[in-house]
Amino acid sequence: MKRNKNSNMKFVVVLTLLVVGILAAVVVFSNKQESLPIEIKQIDVTGQPSIGEKDAPVTVVEFGDFKCPSCKAWGEMIYPKLVDDYIETGQVKFSFVNVLFHGKESTLASIAAESVFERSPGLYWNFHQAMFDAQPVENHDGPWITPEKILEIASAFPEIDQTLLKEDMEQEATMENVKIDDDLVKKAGVSMTPAIVINGEMMEDPFDYEAIKTAIEQGYKDTN
Ligand code: CA
Repeated sequence: MKRNKNSNMKFVVVLTLLVVGILAAVVVFSNKQESLPIEIKQIDVTGQPSIGEKDAPVTVVEFGDFKCPSCKAWGEMIYPKLVDDYIETGQVKFSFVNVLFHGKESTLASIAAESVFERSPGLYWNFHQAMFDAQPVENHDGPWITPEKILEIASAFPEIDQTLLKEDMEQEATMENVKIDDDLVKKAGVSMTPAIVINGEMMEDPFDYEAIKTAIEQGYKDTN
């Protein structure tokens, strides 16, 4: 009887150790999995509107939304500095990926922007800027992105064919490209806009220009 109890105890101890061991392995393994996305956030910007040297050592990707007021603010406060300090010097290639967090209006604006990019790539950034300029300062949550409004914005550029842009919006002709963007958003784990990814690393605060500079200069060092 006593012997039996002893071997039962041994069994319990061995079983406990085994369970602890398995749990420890699971924790280590899942920690490893959690740290993976940081390394795989390098964004594939093939087919995305990009500005700067094609082979620039550092890539900066903005995940943005024409309907998002912070994106408008980022474009006014941070983007011009980025252009002067790093894009024009050839250190940074900058790309923009559409985010659809504001629903139908985000989607419509993205379809239109992709259409302009496809048909008149040289005008894309001007149109992009004009869209953000047109975003109302007050009540930006109220509906403002409509096909009529987009055509009005595009009318500032005589080279943009209004009939084709209208057709592209009606037929959602560039939806495939918008979906590619949406997939990138999910893959990169974007949860708010604007999201700024520098050489595969997402910035904690997109408005912290000092941190952006540090990340760019680190990326530049790594590749030189
Ligand atoms: Ca795109």
